[in-house]
This record gives sequence, structure tokens and C-alpha cells, in this order.
Amino acid sequence: MRILLVEDERELAHTLRHGLSAEGYRVDLAHDGREGLWKARMGEHALIILDLMLPLINGYRVCAQLRREGVTTPILILTAKDGEWDQAEALDTGADDYLAKPFSYPVLLARLRALQRRATTFSTAMLTVGDLTLDIAARACRRAGSKIALTPREFAILELLARHPGQAVTKHDLLYHAWPDDAEDPNLVEARISALRRKIDTPFGRHSLQTVRGHGYRLIDDRHNHE
Ligand code: CA
Repeated sequence: MRILLVEDERELAHTLRHGLSAEGYRVDLAHDGREGLWKARMGEHALIILDLMLPLINGYRVCAQLRREGVTTPILILTAKDGEWDQAEALDTGADDYLAKPFSYPVLLARLRALQRRATTFSTAMLTVGDLTLDIAARACRRAGSKIALTPREFAILELLARHPGQAVTKHDLLYHAWPDDAEDPNLVEARISALRRKIDTPFGRHSLQTVRGHGYRLIDDRHNHE
């Protein structure tokens, strides 16, 4: 399971990464708000641990921005402040939980496990690009109401594209997202993209899954081209 840790205190960040790795988590680090936002947007993490006081963009704004963009990854806010106001504000921006520093490591682990359980039980996020919808919890895909059967890899690829509608996503990012444990051969992505086109576009006379030359792929709402 991959976790994104956004924390500017390097010593704490590295200690946490070390401890969480020992628990079996794969931890990506970001040392400021901008880097954290950028990494979190990829939608590749099961959980995000987000410090509140960060350089460049603070944790409140990172959290609020992610939620605005439809990123539903559970977020645990770490805060050096412990006033009720700050905690309420953290939850209001779309965080799922918070923990005041200094915190006990077992409590952090317990909170992470609780977030994980809640995410798997209640993840009802629906992604929509034009008339294509992805039900993340049910792993179901529909075009204009018609159900489309996808393999888990195809679903993963389409999910990442649908999280960034209209934006180019690199082949590398798609590979890493759909084959997290074995991301080596970019041809795997090409083959699955072709398969996806045969499923989500061709039968509907559409071209929503586009190649962005020299970069990767993007998913667009192409309905206006076909009226
Ligand atoms: Ca900080």
C-alpha cells in the first residue's frame, strides 16, 4: 500500500517513512505543499498524511484543492497546533482525520488503519467525463448508461485518466498506477489503451481516449464532435 507523506520537517519525515516502511507501507515523500499537491493529484496513493504548516502551499489549501479536483484519497492531517478551531478547519477543508503533534506512533498507525477501513467500506466516488462514468467502489464503467466490462488493469488506467479529464497523463504514470508492483514494460500500457478504445469508444463511434504525441494519453468529453 502506497502512502504519500507531505512533511517539511525532514527528520520527522524520514523517521516516519522508516517506521511506516517497516509496517509494510510504501512511502513517497513530499517536502512542501506544491510537491505534495502534485504527487497527490496522481491518485496513486491509498492514504495521504499531510502536515498543516508547509512551505509554498499550506496543508489547508492542499487539502481543499485536492477535494475540489475530485481527489478522494483519505487525508490525515498532522498539525503542531492543537486548538479546536484548527482541527475543525482541517475537517472542513475535506480532511478525514487529524492528529496533533507530538503524537504517539501507535496512535498514528491505528488512525491509518481506521482510514483504510473506512476508505474501502465507504468509497463511493463516481468519476464522470462526458457521458462516461466510473464507479470506483463498484469498479463499474458505463458509457451513456451502457455497462462496459473492463479488466482490473483497464479500469486502473481509465481511472487515472478520468481523474485528470482533458489533461495528458504520461505512459509512465499509467504504467506505475496499473502495474504498481511490476511497472517495467510501457508496451503493456499501449496494449491496454487499444483494448480500452475498442470498448469505450469504437462501439459508440467516439474518440474520447486520445494519444498526446510524445507525452501520453488523455481522456476528453468528445460529445460535441458527434452531434
Ligand atoms: Ca511543518
